Amino acid sequence: MIQSIEFKKFASKYPGEFIVSSACDQINQVAIDSRKIHSGNQTLFVALDGSRQNGSDFAMDAHDLKVRNFILPLSAKKATEKLKDSNILMVEKPLYALQVLAIKNRSAFLGPVVGITGSNGKTIVKEWLAQILGQKFNTYKSPKSYNSQIGVALSALGIQARHQVALLEAGISQPGEMDRLKQIIEPQLGIFTNIGSAHDENFEDLETKIEEKCKLFRDVNFLIFRKDHSKLGQFINKTFHPAMLISWSDDPGADYTLSIRPDFKGSKIFMVARDLRTFTFFTNFRDPASLENIRHVIVASLVLGMSPEKIQSGLEMLHAVDMRLTLKSGIKRCLLIDDSYNNDLAGLEIALEFMAHQRKSAERRVLILSEMLQEGNEIEVFRKIAGLIIHYEIDFFVGVGHLFSQYKSLFPKQSRFFWGTTHLLENIASLNLSNDLVLVKGARNFHFENIIKLLEAQVHETVLEINLNALRHNFNFYKKRLQPDTRIMVMVKAFAYGGGSAEIANHLQQIGADYLSVAYIDEGVYLRQKGVTLPIMVMNPDMQHLSLIQHYELEPVIFNNRTLLQLASALTSDSKNISIHLELDTGMRRLGLVEGDLEDTLAMLRAHSEIKLAGLFTHLAGADEAIHEDFSREQLATFDRISQGIMQKLSCRPIRHALNSAGIIRFPEYAFDMVRLGIGLHGVEINQLEPEKLQPVATLKSVVSQVKKLAKGDSIGYGRHGRLIQDGEIATLAIGYADGYDRRFGNGKAFVMIQGKKAPTIGNICMDMCMIDVSGLQVKEGDEVILFGKEPSLQYLANQIGTIPYELLTGIGLRVKRQYILD
Ligand SMILES: *Cc1c(COP(=O)(O)O)cnc(C)c1O
Repeated sequence: MIQSIEFKKFASKYPGEFIVSSACDQINQVAIDSRKIHSGNQTLFVALDGSRQNGSDFAMDAHDLKVRNFILPLSAKKATEKLKDSNILMVEKPLYALQVLAIKNRSAFLGPVVGITGSNGKTIVKEWLAQILGQKFNTYKSPKSYNSQIGVALSALGIQARHQVALLEAGISQPGEMDRLKQIIEPQLGIFTNIGSAHDENFEDLETKIEEKCKLFRDVNFLIFRKDHSKLGQFINKTFHPAMLISWSDDPGADYTLSIRPDFKGSKIFMVARDLRTFTFFTNFRDPASLENIRHVIVASLVLGMSPEKIQSGLEMLHAVDMRLTLKSGIKRCLLIDDSYNNDLAGLEIALEFMAHQRKSAERRVLILSEMLQEGNEIEVFRKIAGLIIHYEIDFFVGVGHLFSQYKSLFPKQSRFFWGTTHLLENIASLNLSNDLVLVKGARNFHFENIIKLLEAQVHETVLEINLNALRHNFNFYKKRLQPDTRIMVMVKAFAYGGGSAEIANHLQQIGADYLSVAYIDEGVYLRQKGVTLPIMVMNPDMQHLSLIQHYELEPVIFNNRTLLQLASALTSDSKNISIHLELDTGMRRLGLVEGDLEDTLAMLRAHSEIKLAGLFTHLAGADEAIHEDFSREQLATFDRISQGIMQKLSCRPIRHALNSAGIIRFPEYAFDMVRLGIGLHGVEINQLEPEKLQPVATLKSVVSQVKKLAKGDSIGYGRHGRLIQDGEIATLAIGYADGYDRRFGNGKAFVMIQGKKAPTIGNICMDMCMIDVSGLQVKEGDEVILFGKEPSLQYLANQIGTIPYELLTGIGLRVKRQYILD
C-alpha cells in the first residue's frame, strides 16, 4: 500500500499528453503487472515495456479489473481508444514518470532515509537494521530486495507519513544507473556495505564501479563504510568531506573499532568508539559475511540513536533464517511455502503470486497468516488482506493474532482464527491439512518457524537448494540473446537436471517458457499430474504407451519410420489429432532420421492427416567446443536444407529447433523458431565463454554431525587413507556418495565451505558420510556446510574429477530433499 496520490493533480503537471475522463483518481496502489491487480479502482496501472510483451497490451486487462488511471507509453496511443472513462497519462518513458511519482512521495517524508548500496549484503543489512530500529521507531524498509530502477521507485512509494525512518536499498548493474536511484532515495545516512566482483563486466574497473555506487551518497550527512576495504576506503576518503565519514574497522584508527573474537557459540564483538567508550556485543553468527553485515548494523544503529543495550537485545533476535521464501515438502503430502521471517503486504503479495503458480493439483490453497502490526491503518490492512484472499483464490484462511477476531466478518465463512501461535499449534490437527498447498507467513515475533517445524516432512539433513531467482536470471540471460519472437523450450528431463521437475516446470511456466521437453513418457505424465499446461515434447517415447501420450497430450519425438508406422497404425478413426516432432540426425549419431528415410516418412505423414507435424529438429554433437565449430555449422546447414525440403513437400510450417544452451551462445543466427535450453538454465555456461553472467541455481548443503580432535598421523576412514599432518580437528558430514557426493571427491580432491571458509575432504568418501579437515576453523556440530554452489562451483568440481557438471547435478540422490527459494 502506498501513500495516497491524487493522480490528476500529478498527471496534469507532468510533461506528456493527458486524457481526463474519469472522476475517480484517488490512488493507493501502483501495479505494473495486470495479473496482480485487486482493488482496481484505487490502482494506477503503469505499462512498462517488459521484454516479452508490450505492457500496454495489458492495459485493457487492467481496465477490465476496474482500473481507471493509467500511465502508458506514447506508442500505445491506439490502446487508449478502448480505455473508456479513464485518466491516461501518455509519456515517452513510463518508468520515468513512475520514478517522478516516487520522488514526490519521498520528498514529502520528513524522517531520515537510510540509503544502502554495495555489492553484497544490502538486503540483509537493511532487514537486520530494520529489526533493531523497529524496537524504537516506526520503521519502513523496501520490500524484499527491491533495489532496481523499478524496485526503488515502488519502494519509495510505500513510505507513509506515520513512518519515522525509512531504509531503502539501491542496486545497479551498469554505469549511469545510480543517478536516478539517488534522486529517488535522497538519503541522509548512507551505508556502503562492501565492494565485490558482481557486474564487473559492465564497468571499466573497480574504481569506476565504486565511483558509480558512491553517487548515491553525494548529499548525505553521514556515510558509514568499512575502512579496511582498501580500494573502497581510499576512494571514499578522497571523495567525501571528512566530517561526513563514519568509518569502522577491525584495526584501530577508524571511528569505531569493532574487533571480533569467535567462539563455539558465536562471536563476541568488542567495540571502541571515538570517545573511547567500549562495549561488548554478542551474536550467534560466526561467518565473515554475516559479521561484516552485523558491524554495519551496529554502527548505523548507534548513529540513528539506538542505545547499546537495545542494539544487543536486537542482535539476539536476528536469525540467519532467510527472509527468502522456501518451498518444501510437508507431512501428509502437503507442500509448504515457508515465509515465516517477516510479514508485510508487499511480501504477502509476492508470496501469493508465487503460490498461484505452484502445485495446481493441490486439494486446497491454504494461507496461515499472522497480524501485520507495522502496516498502520488497521481496517484498511485487514480489508486488503481479505481482498487478496479472494483475488488469489485461497480456499482456506487461517488468521493468527488477537486483532483478527475483530475483523472476522471480512473473511470467508469457513476461515479459522487463533489468538496466537501456541493456540494454533495446539489445534493444528483440526485444520485437517492433507495434500494441500500451504503458505505460512508470519511476522518474526509470531515465531511461525514452530508451525513449519510441525508441518515439515522429516528432513534428512542434506538438502539441495534451488534458487528460483537465479533460474529466472539465467532464463532471461538466454532470452536476451535471442530475437524476441524466438521461443524457448526448456529441457526438464532427468528431474530437471536433478532440480525437481514439477516445481521448476511450474516456475518456468510463470516466467515465460514456451515449451518443455522430457526424455520419457512417465516424466511428462508426472508434469501433467502436477498441473503443468505447457506443451511437452517427449524425446524417447515408447509407442506401446500411446494411450498415455494421447490422454496427457504429450508430443512424441519420431526418430525412425518404425515408430511412425506403429503410431499411425495404432491411431483409430476417432482418435484426436496427435502432434509430433521429427528428429533429424545431422551428425550426432544418436537418434534421428537420415535423408534416405524421409521418403517413407513423408508418405506416411501425407496418408495420416491426424498426425500433425508440430516440430522439426536436430541436435548438435559438439556445440560447446570451438574445435567443432565447422562441424556444428555443417550440421546446422544440413538441418536447414533438409527441413526446408520437408516443409515444402508437406506444405506446412512446423517449429524448427536446433540449438542447446551452448549453441545459443555460439550460433544465435541459427536459432530458427525455437531453442532448447538445458544446462545453462542451471547456471553453467558450458562453453566457459561467459561464466560470470550466469548465477548458480543449485546449492548442495549438509551439516556437521560430529567434530573430532585428532593427533598428527591418526588415520581417518575406510582403508585408513586420510592422515592429518599436524594435530587438528576433522568434521564428519551427513552426506556420502549415495547422496551423489561423488566418491572421487575424497582425499582432498574437493573442498567444502563452512562458515565462509574452505575445508578439504580427508580420507575416502563413505556411502552416507564423509570427513573434512577443519583444523583451526572452530567448527561446531550442527554447522551448515556447502558442498557446491557459488563456491565451489559445479564446473570446478567437475574438472577436479574429470567429469561434466551435468553428471554431478543429475547424480544428486533422490533422498536429498529439494527446497526452492525465492529471494
Ligand atoms: C539435453 C538436450 C538439450 C539441452 O542440452 P544442454 O547442453 O543441457 O543445453 C537439447 N536438446 C536435446 C535433444 C537434448 O537431449
